[in-house]
Amino acid sequence: MIDFAPLEAWFVTGSQHLYGPQALEQVRANSEAVVAGLNGSGALPIRVVFKAVVTTPEEISAALREADAAANCVGVIAWMHTFSPGKMWIGGLSRLRRPLCHLHTQLGRAIPWSTIDMDFMNLNQSAHGGREFGHICSRLGVERKVVVGHWREPAVQDRIAVWLRATAAWHDSQGMRIARIGDNMRQVAVTEGDKVEAELRLGYAVNGYGPGDLAGHVEAAREAAVDALCEEYAASYTVTESLLPGGARYASLREAARIELGLRSFLAEGGFHAFTDTFENLHGLRQLPGLAAQRLMADGYGFGAEGDWKHAALVRSMKVMAHGLPGGTSFMEDYTYHLDPEGQAVLGAHMLEICPTIAAGTPSCEVHPLGIGGRDDPVRLVFDAAPGPAVNATLVDMGGRFRMVVSEVDVIEPLAALPKLPVPRALWKPRPDLRTAAAAWIHAGGAHHTGFSLALTAEHLEDFAAMARVECLFIDAETELRRFRRELR
Ligand code: MN
Repeated sequence: MIDFAPLEAWFVTGSQHLYGPQALEQVRANSEAVVAGLNGSGALPIRVVFKAVVTTPEEISAALREADAAANCVGVIAWMHTFSPGKMWIGGLSRLRRPLCHLHTQLGRAIPWSTIDMDFMNLNQSAHGGREFGHICSRLGVERKVVVGHWREPAVQDRIAVWLRATAAWHDSQGMRIARIGDNMRQVAVTEGDKVEAELRLGYAVNGYGPGDLAGHVEAAREAAVDALCEEYAASYTVTESLLPGGARYASLREAARIELGLRSFLAEGGFHAFTDTFENLHGLRQLPGLAAQRLMADGYGFGAEGDWKHAALVRSMKVMAHGLPGGTSFMEDYTYHLDPEGQAVLGAHMLEICPTIAAGTPSCEVHPLGIGGRDDPVRLVFDAAPGPAVNATLVDMGGRFRMVVSEVDVIEPLAALPKLPVPRALWKPRPDLRTAAAAWIHAGGAHHTGFSLALTAEHLEDFAAMARVECLFIDAETELRRFRRELR
């Protein structure tokens, strides 16, 4: 359900008529060479399409207007090969809605010391042409990513690749439909928020539905489809004995399959890419959706528990950004601490709903009682998260504005077996350390829910937040609490 193939980013080269038609021919040829090189590098997840060398205010406005109107264009990469006077860009840039990346590069890596003359200097002017462009962008308040360096450098291509992933998520978020089933867990503050502002600012379209709307789809699930799905579970996971055909709890697995089929039907019918539920409002459902929420996340849906639509949407956006990368992405919650001074760590988990894409091995499919919600025992996948660097990101409503906080962590192997904890979980050490990271997160007002990813870096979220013009705070190896608090103030 996530596909980058139809998407493209447009490459626009700035110049002017001062240097004659031959120079502009060369600028065009060089631009095509840079675009071909970028696409040929294999480093970019989305195709870059060379669009135009723009030399007048009219050409600039037309190219950027066309980019805004093209449904499959996720963003514009601008390169100033020569000087391109900034006033020419005012009209176009002030109306541009697509994300912008300023690639500050030049065709050649090295100065050709023995042959360089004024013709070469006039043709290769990024060093000052890019500054003129940067000035007018800053003066206009145009949000953009600035990538500096030779276009063949892997580090430069990586910066563009990260930005492209963020543009894909931004593109996906525009009009993203999020079903909030059963409102939220009563009295909870952080799962609330301004849905009007979320749609205006991030494109997230959040609307409420009754659990009965979903229950109708669950009841409509066909028995043959339930049979087939139970077989798929058995083939995909280590299914506990009692849940297999003939087992004492086989009916529980069938009910979980019915819920999954119903949710899929409900989400497909409404064109939703993310959803929430809440254990306090499950009218018409026999189990809290556990296995279903886990498997839908694995397919690319965003999910938030307890009505947390902001993290449902954020998980979806993070899944789009992470598309095709190694490592999974999930809804997550900081659950319990390991406060041993020898090695402090956070045990992240949820009652049920953690995405199996982050699992270290084959998940185990089990059924256990759930102390809250008052429904039947829910079926769930149990596993440990794979070790490695990861990020936790949160999106909160601060009243007048949204805030994102991104925390870099390192997932580690569990320190011991957890035989009595039948939920999926991840154990991590936050950077720079738990004491600093948790205090910084709490001062920033970050949620207890997060979007968690073993695939993304803080830079992906930084680029995405910039596109949304949402403030973004980082907690990483460099974080120092006093400085962080000054930044907050
Ligand atoms: Mn929760």
